[in-house]
Amino acid sequence: MYRLSPLLLISFAQAQLPPGLVTADALKAHVSFLASDALEGRNSPSKGLDIAAEYIASRFRALGLKPLGDDGYFQTADWTRSQVNPEGFQLTLEASGKKYEIPYSQVILEPAPKTALAGVTMTRLTLEQASQASDDTLRGQALLINLPPLDRPVMQRYAALRRRLLKLAPTAVVLIAEGQAPPSRGGATLRSVADTPLLPAVIIRQPELASLTEAKLTLNLAPALETPAKMRNVAALLEGEDLRDQAVLVSAHYDHLGLATSGPDTVYNGANDNASGVAGVLEVAAALAKLPAKPRRSVLFLTFFAEEKGLLGARHYTLHPLLPLAQTVANLNFEQLGRTDSSEGPNLDMVNLTGFDFSNLKDTLAAAGALTGVRLVKNEKSSDAFFGASDNQPFADRCVVAHTASVTYEFPDYHQLGDEWRKLDYDNMAKVVRMLGTGVLLLANQQTRPAYDAENSATANYRNCR
Ligand SMILES: [Zn+2]
Repeated sequence: MYRLSPLLLISFAQAQLPPGLVTADALKAHVSFLASDALEGRNSPSKGLDIAAEYIASRFRALGLKPLGDDGYFQTADWTRSQVNPEGFQLTLEASGKKYEIPYSQVILEPAPKTALAGVTMTRLTLEQASQASDDTLRGQALLINLPPLDRPVMQRYAALRRRLLKLAPTAVVLIAEGQAPPSRGGATLRSVADTPLLPAVIIRQPELASLTEAKLTLNLAPALETPAKMRNVAALLEGEDLRDQAVLVSAHYDHLGLATSGPDTVYNGANDNASGVAGVLEVAAALAKLPAKPRRSVLFLTFFAEEKGLLGARHYTLHPLLPLAQTVANLNFEQLGRTDSSEGPNLDMVNLTGFDFSNLKDTLAAAGALTGVRLVKNEKSSDAFFGASDNQPFADRCVVAHTASVTYEFPDYHQLGDEWRKLDYDNMAKVVRMLGTGVLLLANQQTRPAYDAENSATANYRNCR
Protein backbone atom coordinates (compact mmCIF):
# COMPACT_ATOMS: atom_id res chain seq x y z
CA MET A 1 0.00 0.00 0.00
CA TYR A 2 1.18 3.48 -0.80
CA ARG A 3 2.22 5.31 2.31
CA LEU A 4 2.95 9.02 2.58
CA SER A 5 6.43 9.61 3.89
CA PRO A 6 6.77 11.95 6.87
CA LEU A 7 8.80 14.24 4.62
CA LEU A 8 5.90 14.62 2.24
CA LEU A 9 3.56 15.40 5.11
CA ILE A 10 5.92 18.15 6.18
CA SER A 11 6.03 19.54 2.68
CA PHE A 12 2.22 19.57 2.41
CA ALA A 13 1.97 21.40 5.72
CA GLN A 14 4.38 23.98 4.35
CA ALA A 15 2.85 24.26 0.92
CA GLN A 16 2.83 28.01 1.17
CA LEU A 17 5.14 30.56 2.72
CA PRO A 18 3.52 31.83 5.90
CA PRO A 19 2.19 35.41 5.59
CA GLY A 20 4.56 37.97 7.05
CA LEU A 21 7.77 36.27 5.88
CA VAL A 22 7.97 38.55 2.84
CA THR A 23 7.46 42.21 3.71
CA ALA A 24 7.05 45.33 1.62
CA ASP A 25 9.67 47.12 3.73
CA ALA A 26 12.33 44.45 3.14
CA LEU A 27 11.73 44.63 -0.61
CA LYS A 28 11.85 48.42 -0.53
CA ALA A 29 15.15 48.29 1.37
CA HIS A 30 16.80 46.16 -1.35
CA VAL A 31 15.40 48.12 -4.30
CA SER A 32 16.13 51.58 -2.85
CA PHE A 33 19.78 50.66 -2.33
CA LEU A 34 20.39 48.81 -5.59
CA ALA A 35 18.61 51.50 -7.63
CA SER A 36 20.17 54.44 -5.80
CA ASP A 37 22.12 57.04 -7.76
CA ALA A 38 25.21 55.94 -5.81
CA LEU A 39 25.36 52.72 -7.88
CA GLU A 40 25.33 54.75 -11.10
CA GLY A 41 22.98 52.46 -13.00
CA ARG A 42 24.96 49.21 -12.54
CA ASN A 43 26.48 49.08 -16.00
CA SER A 44 28.47 45.96 -16.97
CA PRO A 45 31.31 46.36 -16.06
CA SER A 46 31.39 49.20 -13.51
CA LYS A 47 32.05 50.02 -9.87
CA GLY A 48 28.28 50.23 -9.32
CA LEU A 49 27.87 46.69 -10.66
CA ASP A 50 30.57 45.46 -8.26
CA ILE A 51 28.90 47.18 -5.30
CA ALA A 52 25.57 45.58 -6.22
CA ALA A 53 27.27 42.17 -6.36
CA GLU A 54 28.82 42.75 -2.92
CA TYR A 55 25.41 43.72 -1.54
CA ILE A 56 23.79 40.55 -2.88
CA ALA A 57 26.61 38.36 -1.54
CA SER A 58 26.32 40.08 1.82
CA ARG A 59 22.61 39.22 2.00
CA PHE A 60 23.33 35.58 1.09
CA ARG A 61 25.98 35.55 3.84
CA ALA A 62 23.47 36.88 6.36
CA LEU A 63 21.15 33.97 5.52
CA GLY A 64 23.88 31.36 5.97
CA LEU A 65 23.47 30.06 2.42
CA LYS A 66 26.21 27.92 0.90
CA PRO A 67 28.61 29.83 -1.40
CA LEU A 68 28.89 28.16 -4.80
CA GLY A 69 31.30 30.36 -6.74
CA ASP A 70 35.04 30.26 -7.36
CA ASP A 71 35.44 33.17 -4.92
CA GLY A 72 32.87 32.75 -2.18
CA TYR A 73 29.49 33.61 -3.68
CA PHE A 74 31.06 35.04 -6.85
CA GLN A 75 31.38 33.25 -10.16
CA THR A 76 34.09 35.31 -11.79
CA ALA A 77 34.09 36.01 -15.52
CA ASP A 78 37.42 37.41 -16.68
CA TRP A 79 36.28 39.01 -19.90
CA THR A 80 37.50 41.62 -22.33
CA ARG A 81 35.86 44.95 -23.10
CA SER A 82 36.32 45.94 -26.72
CA GLN A 83 35.84 49.58 -27.61
CA VAL A 84 35.30 51.19 -31.02
CA ASN A 85 38.49 52.67 -32.44
CA PRO A 86 37.68 55.61 -34.76
CA GLU A 87 41.27 56.08 -35.92
CA GLY A 88 41.70 56.22 -39.69
CA PHE A 89 38.03 55.47 -40.36
CA GLN A 90 37.10 55.49 -44.03
CA LEU A 91 33.91 54.29 -45.72
CA THR A 92 33.14 54.83 -49.39
CA LEU A 93 30.33 53.31 -51.45
CA GLU A 94 30.62 53.46 -55.24
CA ALA A 95 27.46 52.92 -57.26
CA SER A 96 26.42 53.84 -60.82
CA GLY A 97 29.56 55.91 -61.29
CA LYS A 98 28.91 57.92 -58.13
CA LYS A 99 31.04 57.95 -54.98
CA TYR A 100 29.44 58.27 -51.56
CA GLU A 101 31.95 59.21 -48.91
CA ILE A 102 30.36 58.47 -45.50
CA PRO A 103 31.79 60.53 -42.62
CA TYR A 104 32.32 59.05 -39.15
CA SER A 105 29.52 61.26 -37.77
CA GLN A 106 26.99 59.42 -39.97
CA VAL A 107 27.75 55.89 -38.81
CA ILE A 108 27.33 53.63 -35.83
CA LEU A 109 30.26 51.27 -35.48
CA GLU A 110 30.70 48.26 -33.35
CA PRO A 111 34.14 47.24 -32.15
CA ALA A 112 35.75 45.64 -35.17
CA PRO A 113 38.75 43.62 -36.21
CA LYS A 114 41.26 45.46 -38.39
CA THR A 115 39.63 45.82 -41.80
CA ALA A 116 41.12 47.19 -45.04
CA LEU A 117 39.00 46.73 -48.19
CA ALA A 118 39.32 48.64 -51.47
CA GLY A 119 36.66 48.53 -54.20
CA VAL A 120 35.12 45.22 -53.14
CA THR A 121 31.85 44.20 -54.86
CA MET A 122 29.03 43.86 -52.35
CA THR A 123 26.23 41.33 -52.03
CA ARG A 124 22.98 43.34 -51.82
CA LEU A 125 20.24 41.96 -49.56
CA THR A 126 17.17 43.04 -47.65
CA LEU A 127 17.13 42.12 -43.96
CA GLU A 128 14.52 39.51 -44.81
CA GLN A 129 16.70 37.98 -47.54
CA ALA A 130 19.80 38.05 -45.35
CA SER A 131 17.90 36.31 -42.55
CA GLN A 132 16.87 33.53 -44.92
CA ALA A 133 20.10 33.31 -46.93
CA SER A 134 22.23 30.19 -46.90
CA ASP A 135 25.52 30.23 -45.00
CA ASP A 136 27.44 30.26 -48.28
CA THR A 137 25.69 33.44 -49.42
CA LEU A 138 26.97 35.24 -46.34
CA ARG A 139 30.30 33.62 -45.52
CA GLY A 140 33.31 35.74 -46.49
CA GLN A 141 31.18 38.29 -48.38
CA ALA A 142 30.90 42.06 -48.16
CA LEU A 143 27.21 42.52 -47.40
CA LEU A 144 25.02 45.56 -48.01
CA ILE A 145 21.78 45.20 -46.07
CA ASN A 146 18.84 47.56 -45.47
CA LEU A 147 17.67 47.85 -41.89
CA PRO A 148 13.91 48.64 -41.82
CA PRO A 149 12.48 51.09 -39.24
CA LEU A 150 13.11 49.53 -35.87
CA ASP A 151 10.44 47.70 -33.97
CA ARG A 152 10.76 44.64 -31.78
CA PRO A 153 10.55 42.03 -34.62
CA VAL A 154 13.16 43.92 -36.68
CA MET A 155 15.47 44.20 -33.65
CA GLN A 156 15.09 40.48 -32.97
CA ARG A 157 15.68 39.55 -36.62
CA TYR A 158 18.78 41.71 -36.77
CA ALA A 159 20.08 40.30 -33.47
CA ALA A 160 19.61 36.76 -34.77
CA LEU A 161 21.33 37.61 -38.07
CA ARG A 162 24.20 39.25 -36.21
CA ARG A 163 24.73 36.10 -34.14
CA ARG A 164 24.91 34.06 -37.35
CA LEU A 165 27.29 36.51 -39.01
CA LEU A 166 29.68 36.34 -36.06
CA LYS A 167 30.13 32.67 -36.91
CA LEU A 168 30.20 33.06 -40.70
CA ALA A 169 32.82 35.83 -40.69
CA PRO A 170 31.74 38.03 -43.61
CA THR A 171 34.43 40.43 -44.88
CA ALA A 172 32.24 43.39 -43.92
CA VAL A 173 28.61 44.19 -43.13
CA VAL A 174 27.24 47.60 -44.10
CA LEU A 175 23.70 48.29 -42.92
CA ILE A 176 21.65 51.25 -44.11
CA ALA A 177 19.05 52.43 -41.60
CA GLU A 178 15.83 53.13 -43.50
CA GLY A 179 14.32 54.86 -40.49
CA GLN A 180 15.69 55.88 -37.15
CA ALA A 181 19.02 54.15 -36.52
CA PRO A 182 19.29 51.84 -33.53
CA PRO A 183 20.65 53.47 -30.37
CA SER A 184 24.42 53.16 -30.11
CA ARG A 185 25.50 50.64 -27.50
CA GLY A 186 28.15 53.05 -26.34
CA GLY A 187 30.59 51.67 -28.86
CA ALA A 188 31.75 48.80 -26.69
CA THR A 189 31.11 45.08 -26.45
CA LEU A 190 32.00 42.45 -23.88
CA ARG A 191 33.61 39.20 -24.84
CA SER A 192 34.72 36.20 -22.92
CA VAL A 193 38.30 35.33 -23.78
CA ALA A 194 37.27 32.24 -25.71
CA ASP A 195 34.42 34.08 -27.37
CA THR A 196 33.55 34.54 -31.02
CA PRO A 197 35.44 37.14 -33.08
CA LEU A 198 34.43 40.75 -33.59
CA LEU A 199 32.26 41.73 -36.54
CA PRO A 200 33.30 44.42 -39.04
CA ALA A 201 29.81 45.96 -39.10
CA VAL A 202 28.83 49.57 -39.82
CA ILE A 203 25.34 51.10 -39.67
CA ILE A 204 24.89 54.15 -41.93
CA ARG A 205 22.42 56.82 -40.79
CA GLN A 206 21.52 58.05 -44.27
CA PRO A 207 18.13 56.62 -45.31
CA GLU A 208 18.55 58.18 -48.79
CA LEU A 209 21.19 55.51 -49.52
CA ALA A 210 18.66 52.73 -48.92
CA SER A 211 17.70 52.81 -52.61
CA LEU A 212 21.18 51.77 -53.85
CA THR A 213 20.81 48.49 -55.70
CA GLU A 214 24.50 47.67 -55.97
CA ALA A 215 27.76 49.11 -54.69
CA LYS A 216 31.48 48.65 -54.35
CA LEU A 217 32.96 49.08 -50.90
CA THR A 218 36.09 50.75 -49.61
CA LEU A 219 36.38 50.35 -45.84
CA ASN A 220 39.13 50.98 -43.34
CA LEU A 221 38.56 50.11 -39.68
CA ALA A 222 41.21 50.18 -36.97
CA PRO A 223 41.24 47.21 -34.58
CA ALA A 224 39.09 47.65 -31.46
CA LEU A 225 40.73 48.88 -28.26
CA GLU A 226 40.68 46.12 -25.66
CA THR A 227 40.79 46.22 -21.87
CA PRO A 228 40.19 43.51 -19.22
CA ALA A 229 36.67 43.38 -17.74
CA LYS A 230 35.98 41.33 -14.64
CA MET A 231 32.30 40.70 -13.92
CA ARG A 232 30.57 38.32 -11.56
CA ASN A 233 27.45 36.25 -11.21
CA VAL A 234 26.44 35.78 -7.57
CA ALA A 235 25.44 32.25 -6.55
CA ALA A 236 24.17 30.73 -3.30
CA LEU A 237 22.65 27.38 -2.45
CA LEU A 238 20.00 26.32 0.03
CA GLU A 239 20.64 22.61 0.29
CA GLY A 240 17.65 20.32 0.01
CA GLU A 241 16.68 17.31 2.06
CA ASP A 242 16.25 14.00 0.26
CA LEU A 243 16.51 15.20 -3.39
CA ARG A 244 19.36 17.61 -2.76
CA ASP A 245 21.25 16.65 -5.94
CA GLN A 246 18.46 18.31 -7.89
CA ALA A 247 17.98 22.05 -7.81
CA VAL A 248 15.36 24.66 -8.58
CA LEU A 249 17.07 27.78 -9.92
CA VAL A 250 15.71 31.18 -8.89
CA SER A 251 17.37 34.01 -10.79
CA ALA A 252 17.38 37.69 -11.76
CA HIS A 253 19.78 40.03 -13.49
CA TYR A 254 21.29 42.74 -11.30
CA ASP A 255 22.85 44.92 -14.00
CA HIS A 256 21.26 47.84 -15.82
CA LEU A 257 22.18 50.51 -18.37
CA GLY A 258 24.61 52.69 -16.43
CA LEU A 259 24.86 56.43 -17.01
CA ALA A 260 23.49 58.76 -19.68
CA THR A 261 26.06 61.08 -21.19
CA SER A 262 24.32 64.40 -20.45
CA GLY A 263 21.24 66.02 -18.90
CA PRO A 264 20.07 66.96 -15.41
CA ASP A 265 19.50 63.30 -14.40
CA THR A 266 22.16 60.95 -15.73
CA VAL A 267 21.46 57.72 -13.83
CA TYR A 268 19.53 54.84 -15.34
CA ASN A 269 18.43 53.58 -11.92
CA GLY A 270 16.79 50.39 -13.14
CA ALA A 271 14.55 50.06 -10.08
CA ASN A 272 11.86 47.93 -11.68
CA ASP A 273 14.34 46.58 -14.28
CA ASN A 274 15.72 44.82 -12.39
CA ALA A 275 16.49 45.77 -8.79
CA SER A 276 12.95 44.49 -8.18
CA GLY A 277 13.77 41.02 -9.51
CA VAL A 278 16.91 40.86 -7.36
CA ALA A 279 14.89 41.94 -4.31
CA GLY A 280 12.49 39.10 -5.16
CA VAL A 281 15.35 36.58 -5.27
CA LEU A 282 16.75 37.86 -1.95
CA GLU A 283 13.38 37.70 -0.16
CA VAL A 284 12.50 34.26 -1.53
CA ALA A 285 15.93 33.14 -0.29
CA ALA A 286 15.31 34.73 3.10
CA ALA A 287 11.86 33.17 3.42
CA LEU A 288 12.96 29.65 2.41
CA ALA A 289 16.04 29.83 4.65
CA LYS A 290 13.79 30.66 7.64
CA LEU A 291 11.43 27.70 7.18
CA PRO A 292 11.76 25.07 9.92
CA ALA A 293 12.23 22.22 7.40
CA LYS A 294 14.38 22.15 4.30
CA PRO A 295 12.72 21.73 0.90
CA ARG A 296 13.26 18.33 -0.71
CA ARG A 297 15.29 19.67 -3.64
CA SER A 298 18.04 22.24 -3.29
CA VAL A 299 17.32 25.81 -4.34
CA LEU A 300 20.00 27.74 -6.22
CA PHE A 301 19.82 31.54 -6.03
CA LEU A 302 21.66 33.22 -8.86
CA THR A 303 21.95 36.83 -9.99
CA PHE A 304 23.49 37.72 -13.35
CA PHE A 305 25.69 40.45 -14.80
CA ALA A 306 25.22 41.92 -18.29
CA GLU A 307 21.66 40.85 -19.11
CA GLU A 308 21.21 44.25 -20.72
CA LYS A 309 24.21 43.55 -22.96
CA GLY A 310 22.56 40.44 -24.39
CA LEU A 311 21.99 37.88 -21.60
CA LEU A 312 25.76 37.52 -21.22
CA GLY A 313 25.96 36.60 -17.53
CA ALA A 314 23.31 33.91 -17.85
CA ARG A 315 24.95 32.53 -20.99
CA HIS A 316 28.28 32.50 -19.16
CA TYR A 317 26.68 30.45 -16.39
CA THR A 318 25.20 27.90 -18.80
CA LEU A 319 28.67 27.42 -20.31
CA HIS A 320 30.20 27.06 -16.82
CA PRO A 321 27.38 25.65 -14.64
CA LEU A 322 28.04 25.34 -10.91
CA LEU A 323 25.51 22.50 -10.65
CA PRO A 324 24.79 20.08 -13.51
CA LEU A 325 22.18 21.58 -15.84
CA ALA A 326 20.60 18.15 -16.24
CA GLN A 327 19.90 18.22 -12.49
CA THR A 328 18.56 21.77 -12.62
CA VAL A 329 14.87 20.92 -12.74
CA ALA A 330 13.56 24.43 -13.45
CA ASN A 331 14.61 28.04 -13.75
CA LEU A 332 12.19 30.66 -12.50
CA ASN A 333 13.67 34.01 -13.51
CA PHE A 334 12.34 37.27 -12.03
CA GLU A 335 11.96 40.56 -13.90
CA GLN A 336 10.02 43.74 -13.23
CA LEU A 337 8.15 42.74 -10.09
CA GLY A 338 7.44 46.19 -8.65
CA ARG A 339 5.58 48.39 -11.12
CA THR A 340 1.87 47.70 -11.54
CA ASP A 341 1.24 50.50 -14.07
CA SER A 342 1.58 48.38 -17.18
CA SER A 343 1.25 50.13 -20.55
CA GLU A 344 -1.93 48.05 -20.97
CA GLY A 345 -3.53 49.09 -17.65
CA PRO A 346 -3.04 48.29 -13.96
CA ASN A 347 -1.65 44.85 -13.10
CA LEU A 348 -2.60 44.19 -9.47
CA ASP A 349 -2.46 40.83 -7.69
CA MET A 350 -1.23 39.12 -10.81
CA VAL A 351 1.88 37.50 -12.25
CA ASN A 352 2.77 37.08 -15.91
CA LEU A 353 4.84 34.20 -17.22
CA THR A 354 6.78 34.16 -20.50
CA GLY A 355 6.30 31.10 -22.71
CA PHE A 356 3.15 30.41 -20.71
CA ASP A 357 2.18 27.25 -22.59
CA PHE A 358 5.70 25.99 -23.25
CA SER A 359 5.79 23.75 -20.16
CA ASN A 360 3.65 22.55 -17.26
CA LEU A 361 5.51 24.77 -14.81
CA LYS A 362 2.50 27.09 -15.08
CA ASP A 363 0.38 24.51 -13.24
CA THR A 364 2.64 24.65 -10.20
CA LEU A 365 2.78 28.44 -10.29
CA ALA A 366 -1.00 28.67 -10.68
CA ALA A 367 -1.35 26.44 -7.62
CA ALA A 368 0.96 28.81 -5.72
CA GLY A 369 -1.25 31.66 -6.90
CA ALA A 370 -4.38 29.92 -5.62
CA LEU A 371 -2.74 29.46 -2.21
CA THR A 372 -1.66 33.09 -1.93
CA GLY A 373 -4.40 35.06 -3.70
CA VAL A 374 -2.40 36.09 -6.76
CA ARG A 375 -3.54 35.24 -10.29
CA LEU A 376 -1.12 33.68 -12.76
CA VAL A 377 -2.06 35.13 -16.16
CA LYS A 378 -1.13 34.68 -19.78
CA ASN A 379 -0.71 37.85 -21.81
CA GLU A 380 -1.59 36.70 -25.33
CA LYS A 381 0.43 39.44 -27.03
CA SER A 382 3.59 39.29 -24.94
CA SER A 383 3.91 35.88 -23.27
CA ASP A 384 5.69 34.10 -26.14
CA ALA A 385 7.24 37.25 -27.64
CA PHE A 386 9.15 37.99 -24.42
CA PHE A 387 10.38 34.42 -23.81
CA GLY A 388 13.73 35.20 -25.44
CA ALA A 389 14.01 38.66 -23.90
CA SER A 390 15.53 37.61 -20.58
CA ASP A 391 17.94 35.28 -18.83
CA ASN A 392 15.71 32.22 -18.95
CA GLN A 393 16.55 31.83 -22.66
CA PRO A 394 20.13 30.50 -22.31
CA PHE A 395 18.78 27.88 -19.90
CA ALA A 396 16.00 26.89 -22.31
CA ASP A 397 18.70 26.57 -25.00
CA ARG A 398 20.33 23.95 -22.74
CA CYS A 399 16.96 22.20 -22.20
CA VAL A 400 16.29 23.43 -18.69
CA VAL A 401 12.58 24.27 -18.20
CA ALA A 402 12.99 28.02 -17.84
CA HIS A 403 10.55 30.93 -17.72
CA THR A 404 10.54 34.56 -16.63
CA ALA A 405 7.90 35.76 -14.17
CA SER A 406 7.04 39.46 -14.06
CA VAL A 407 4.19 41.75 -13.04
CA THR A 408 4.32 43.86 -16.20
CA TYR A 409 5.92 43.46 -19.61
CA GLU A 410 6.06 47.08 -20.70
CA PHE A 411 5.74 50.00 -18.28
CA PRO A 412 6.06 53.78 -18.80
CA ASP A 413 9.68 54.24 -17.60
CA TYR A 414 11.08 51.10 -19.27
CA HIS A 415 14.80 51.71 -19.99
CA GLN A 416 14.34 55.40 -19.12
CA LEU A 417 16.01 57.60 -16.51
CA GLY A 418 12.73 57.67 -14.57
CA ASP A 419 12.77 53.99 -13.53
CA GLU A 420 13.22 54.97 -9.86
CA TRP A 421 12.54 53.12 -6.62
CA ARG A 422 9.76 55.38 -5.29
CA LYS A 423 7.48 54.42 -8.18
CA LEU A 424 7.15 50.74 -7.24
CA ASP A 425 4.11 49.29 -5.47
CA TYR A 426 5.77 47.42 -2.60
CA ASP A 427 2.57 46.10 -1.02
CA ASN A 428 1.60 44.41 -4.26
CA MET A 429 5.20 43.27 -4.73
CA ALA A 430 5.21 41.56 -1.32
CA LYS A 431 2.13 39.54 -2.34
CA VAL A 432 3.72 38.65 -5.65
CA VAL A 433 7.04 37.60 -4.14
CA ARG A 434 5.25 35.47 -1.55
CA MET A 435 3.36 33.79 -4.41
CA LEU A 436 6.57 33.22 -6.36
CA GLY A 437 8.37 31.91 -3.27
CA THR A 438 5.49 29.52 -2.69
CA GLY A 439 5.86 28.41 -6.31
CA VAL A 440 9.56 27.75 -5.76
CA LEU A 441 8.76 25.75 -2.64
CA LEU A 442 6.18 23.66 -4.54
CA LEU A 443 8.68 23.05 -7.36
CA ALA A 444 11.30 21.99 -4.82
CA ASN A 445 8.92 19.62 -3.05
CA GLN A 446 6.73 18.15 -5.78
CA GLN A 447 7.35 14.56 -6.81
CA THR A 448 7.78 15.15 -10.55
CA ARG A 449 9.99 17.58 -12.44
CA PRO A 450 8.35 20.11 -14.76
CA ALA A 451 8.66 19.33 -18.48
CA TYR A 452 8.36 21.14 -21.79
CA ASP A 453 5.16 20.45 -23.69
CA ALA A 454 6.00 17.81 -26.30
CA GLU A 455 3.03 18.91 -28.45
CA ASN A 456 4.14 22.53 -28.68
CA SER A 457 6.32 23.11 -31.76
CA ALA A 458 7.80 26.27 -30.18
CA THR A 459 9.60 24.10 -27.63
CA ALA A 460 11.21 21.64 -30.07
CA ASN A 461 14.69 23.13 -29.60
CA TYR A 462 14.34 23.00 -25.84
CA ARG A 463 13.57 19.29 -25.73
CA ASN A 464 16.43 17.94 -27.81
CA CYS A 465 19.70 18.63 -26.05
CA ARG A 466 22.34 15.98 -26.06
ZN1 LIG B 1 15.44 43.32 -17.20
